[in-house]
Amino acid sequence: MLDINAERLLSDLGELSAIGQFRTGVHRPSLSAEHLACCRWLMDKLTAAGLDPFMDGIGNVLGRSTRPGQHLLAGSHLESQNHAGRLDGPLGVLYALETARALQEQRPGHAKGIDVAAWCDEEGHFGSFLGSRSFVGQVSEIEIDKATDRTHGHTMRDALAKAGLAGKQRLTVSLERYLGYFEAHIEQGDVLESERLTIGVVTSIVGLWQYRITFEGVQNHAGTTRMAIRRDAGVALARFMGMVEERMPTVAAERTVWTTGSITLDPGAPSIIPGRADMMFQFRDADPDVLLRLDKALMAWIAEADRIGPCRVSAVNLRKGVPARMDPSMQAAIEAAAQQHAGARHKRIPSGAGHDAQILATVMPAAMLFVPSIGGISHHWTENTEDADIVSGGRVFAAAAGAMLGL
Ligand SMILES: [Zn+2]
Repeated sequence: MLDINAERLLSDLGELSAIGQFRTGVHRPSLSAEHLACCRWLMDKLTAAGLDPFMDGIGNVLGRSTRPGQHLLAGSHLESQNHAGRLDGPLGVLYALETARALQEQRPGHAKGIDVAAWCDEEGHFGSFLGSRSFVGQVSEIEIDKATDRTHGHTMRDALAKAGLAGKQRLTVSLERYLGYFEAHIEQGDVLESERLTIGVVTSIVGLWQYRITFEGVQNHAGTTRMAIRRDAGVALARFMGMVEERMPTVAAERTVWTTGSITLDPGAPSIIPGRADMMFQFRDADPDVLLRLDKALMAWIAEADRIGPCRVSAVNLRKGVPARMDPSMQAAIEAAAQQHAGARHKRIPSGAGHDAQILATVMPAAMLFVPSIGGISHHWTENTEDADIVSGGRVFAAAAGAMLGL
């Protein structure tokens, strides 16, 4: 059985958290100087762990082992959301690194090994899972040409050139090399904490379906246009939003979540009746049948609102994410390791957030392990996990990885 060095794990986390530190969290956008410093930090550690590190043309770092047998691919990401937490991403990379070291120290002659990965831009500064999607062959050069940073608007091509990565080869997966992909992450919700559990064994990663719903009315003067003849797109949007909130529970499943994350009124001035309004609406669920059902219901409500008027209502689907089921035998390995290292304090749960594992799951068996998030807080600099839980998670990760490698 593999076991980690808990002190080394926590000290690595301290070193990494100091790069781009912001209050008790970090600010490390994709391909920023701070993110690149983390990549270099990781590459030094990978070399010391006996792996062969390479940073590719889209900013992925992969530390390859030289063992002759099949490999487990393990990792997560090193960049952060703006002004966010120190654990979202790095924790999974550090567990993978620590497990590679455990293998080096405790089983130097074992044929099977671990490759450690840090995928670029999981947090979507430039696009959607660009690093891991590039690795599985889903990203064209044209997509990279078009990618721009959502905060500053600069292009990914410029950022890659500044990082010295322009024209560098992009790594792609060789499927025969890998027996599966394993990623650890903080839960980013409050299920584990509220049930006093230490380990979440992820069953599936939900599919996210995103829509832009547009209301078209007539823009006019807010002082002179009689109420009876108005076609106010803002009012139409607000009515529709209320209707959706009322009706979604009648078609949703137990764990379905839905959100209107942004609203814009056009032109958006105090004395002008909005002629157009847009809302970004999304729902997430782990069951493809539920997603189809919700889509059908939403389309029917949009048609109904359009028919009733007085504004035209239409929708564009921007994303139909397929839920990713985690591999059953890998789930069983995590559960057995959790039983051994965390007693009965584990549970199978779906992931409501997206992760690189959902991309890798499209080409190989994949699995995820969660540790608790204090207060369920994430994507904020106060995000944290108790040290004891960080260590327990690392122990379970290494033991489960060892089992996947036949140890
Ligand atoms: Zn993450």
